Amino acid sequence: MLTHLRPYQQEAVDATLNHFRKSDESAVIVLPTGAGKSLVIAELARLARRKILVLTHVKELVEQNHSKYEGYGLAGGIFSAGLKRKESQHQVTFASVQSVAANLDQFRDEYSLVIIDECHRVSGEETSQYQQIIELLKQQNDSLKVLGLTATPYRLAMGWIYRYHYRGFVRSEDDKPFQRCIYELPLSYMINRGYLTRPELVNAAVAQYDFSSLAQDRFGEYAEKDVNQLLSKHKRVTRAIIEQVVELAADRQGVMVFAATVEHAREITGYLPESQTALVTGATDQKDRDLLIQRFKQRQLKYLVNVSVLTTGFDAPHVDLIAILRPTQSVSLYQQMVGRGLRLDEGKKDCLVIDYAGNQVNLHHPEVGEPKPNPDSEPVQVFCPGCGFANIFWGKTDSDGRVIEHYGRRCQGLLEPVEGESARALQCDYRFRFKECPHCGGENDIAARNCGHCHKAIIDPDDQLRDALKLKDAMVIRCAGITLGLGGSKLKMTYHGEDGEELGESFDFSKPAQRHVFNKLFGRRFANGQAPKTFGKAEEVLELQALLPAPDFVIARKQKHYWQVQERIFDYRGQYRKANEV
Ligand SMILES: [Zn+2]
Ligand SMILES: [Zn+2]
Repeated sequence: MLTHLRPYQQEAVDATLNHFRKSDESAVIVLPTGAGKSLVIAELARLARRKILVLTHVKELVEQNHSKYEGYGLAGGIFSAGLKRKESQHQVTFASVQSVAANLDQFRDEYSLVIIDECHRVSGEETSQYQQIIELLKQQNDSLKVLGLTATPYRLAMGWIYRYHYRGFVRSEDDKPFQRCIYELPLSYMINRGYLTRPELVNAAVAQYDFSSLAQDRFGEYAEKDVNQLLSKHKRVTRAIIEQVVELAADRQGVMVFAATVEHAREITGYLPESQTALVTGATDQKDRDLLIQRFKQRQLKYLVNVSVLTTGFDAPHVDLIAILRPTQSVSLYQQMVGRGLRLDEGKKDCLVIDYAGNQVNLHHPEVGEPKPNPDSEPVQVFCPGCGFANIFWGKTDSDGRVIEHYGRRCQGLLEPVEGESARALQCDYRFRFKECPHCGGENDIAARNCGHCHKAIIDPDDQLRDALKLKDAMVIRCAGITLGLGGSKLKMTYHGEDGEELGESFDFSKPAQRHVFNKLFGRRFANGQAPKTFGKAEEVLELQALLPAPDFVIARKQKHYWQVQERIFDYRGQYRKANEV
């Protein structure tokens, strides 16, 4: 029996063949949960003429991928201790990564392709099991191809799992486990074309947790003990939430509840009808877990409470109510949770989704690739003035949808290689925010310590501020805003400190050198760097002053009768508080 691939599955297969025909670089295919990755894998395995290895981290996926392949009427091997089968003699082997890593000596043949399902789990560390296996297979075949499939190519702790995207942009300047994303489909495509159930977002939550007071780590995640502490004060909220879930569930088939911590999950379970509820945590014994999931799938249990252990490799198409009680900054994780309820099933019309954690994640928003800087940020599209690429950054818009603020630093556009020069595509070097090198004038990332152009050390703004604060004849203000005035050809600028202090300086536009300094400082950063300008006259600046940038700090030194501005620090990130920050 030959299964018919959906059009996008065929496209993913074609993209893979095209890529590996030209290149040995590792590649990633991004397909949303429920897109049928196993069929893409089965088709690639069918087309391969030499030995291939399909790796995953859980036995359920090994089994699932294997059975899709055997659906073609072909025989493949299974190598998984959990499934009690250790076959490596077939042309195609479906294996769990742990079992292969523990038995490397049984993989001494020449493999042409490794396919990794749920490949966002591959870390760049050389000592990881995935890398050990890839290393070994490369020793036997130095043109080994590596393909990953995932629904979530971005992880809060690690960032993007690949460097370059086929639509022409750069995700990372650093080394990543995979080089190229060669195919990607958004969740909305799947929903709009009826391949997935439509999620119905319920806005009438009776109560909501407020996690916004908790400190986040640099990946935007909260510490478990902080979350527990906060939740322990809100037992009544939890009870009210679960009462609403039960009410909403009256005419629903299967309910999944995502809890914030194990303690939280236990509490939730206590409020649900005992005979209809299962709790699965990371500590649940594998056998018990399999049994509970089986009973849930057979609809003997209605509620399944879990702590993010069932976000991947779990498939119960009848689920039609998703309750999210955990905070997350990750669009991917949010999509994974909701994705559990989007599989098509007979008689299923929609899936209710209700978010009690105030995550404010828009399911159809693109992944920005940075933790959300603050609760009211949303993904915004920012065009690069250098190359025209449409970047997606966190930012804010006004009521007309215009971008009034964004947090992007460097353009992510990928420039096609120039004929005759280096054959590699390069990342556009336009920077929306930057630190200027005092030695060569080159522009650098605001966190850079050494200049990327002349390699000399760049002064750390924190050192600059600390030094100035020690001096008696220096004045430092936290700049809360600027105002402008005109005097002939002179532009008079006043910097206002948050406590009412003022510093001033003027730029004489009739003098090319002063005009140049102004344009380098202010014109270059016009409109958040979205539209750099070279001003010719002071009057022009006045007309457009609403979009002029203000520095975060201004440092001045005392002269005989006045304060002379010496430094204006823009886009400051460091240990000192900025104006209007708590
Ligand atoms: Zn650009
Ligand atoms: Zn330099």
